[in-house]
Amino acid sequence: MWRILFSRLKQGHRTAAYPVAAPALPDRLRGHPVVDPTRCPSGCQACVEACPTDAVRVDDQGLGLDLGRCLFCQECVSACPEGAIRYTTEHRMAARRREELVLRGAVLERAQALDAKMLRLFRRSLKLRQVSAGGCNACEADVNVLSTVVFDLGRFGIQVVASPRHADGLLITGPVTENMKLALQKTYDAVPPPKIVIAVGACAISGGPYAGHAEQHDGAGAVVPVDLFIPGCPPHPLTILDGLLALLDRLGPKRVAGAATSGSAMDTP
Ligand code: SF4
Ligand code: SF4
Repeated sequence: MWRILFSRLKQGHRTAAYPVAAPALPDRLRGHPVVDPTRCPSGCQACVEACPTDAVRVDDQGLGLDLGRCLFCQECVSACPEGAIRYTTEHRMAARRREELVLRGAVLERAQALDAKMLRLFRRSLKLRQVSAGGCNACEADVNVLSTVVFDLGRFGIQVVASPRHADGLLITGPVTENMKLALQKTYDAVPPPKIVIAVGACAISGGPYAGHAEQHDGAGAVVPVDLFIPGCPPHPLTILDGLLALLDRLGPKRVAGAATSGSAMDTP
């Protein structure tokens, strides 16, 4: 007994200080990409051809990278001899609107908070029902991690609950397979209004690696209205946490903490 208490005292406080303090993220983290179309030689399509999900495009507006389709595999980086695409360790990538996820050299705007009425309801207490709509389970694993002592999602009043009847909204992972479409619709209908929907991971945003397959629906947006998109394959738990806190306006100017390591895209002028 005394030994257990002593080891607990020795272990100390394990919960991350985020968002008050910047997170310690590894240099290997593949976060927010930076796209520099000025480096592209005329007619070059090397990155477009290398991308397995058609996330990179070169059109009349130049080079664009769709974070909602991106698997963060970095095949485009290896294919580009000019270094027009690079990935930083910036974890903050959530957006309120799907079109905001297409990067064209500029840095992604931070996700806006809910409107005043919704914030009054959910800012201090948000219950979410998780719907796994046919993904590979990695996104679900990173959502589950948020309940551990390190992230401690509960300290923000956010909780994953068992029933949609007890929920304020849905957190959806997976591309929405044909077999899950009706279940997702029924779960959405069972949540009392007003409600919010959060799409987590490339699958739930666009279909991800399954995009275009006849047995899935290219993401949650095809079935229910989505209020927050969180990119990644899977997203880092801090990317998910940051998106949720931005939606709930829990990241005030003094509480915005970026990636501790170099190459933070949000800090790029
Ligand atoms: S990192 Fe993203 S954009 Fe680049 S090749 Fe992979 S999926 Fe495509
Ligand atoms: S987005 Fe990637 S990690 Fe998440 S369910 Fe789809 S394939 Fe798996």
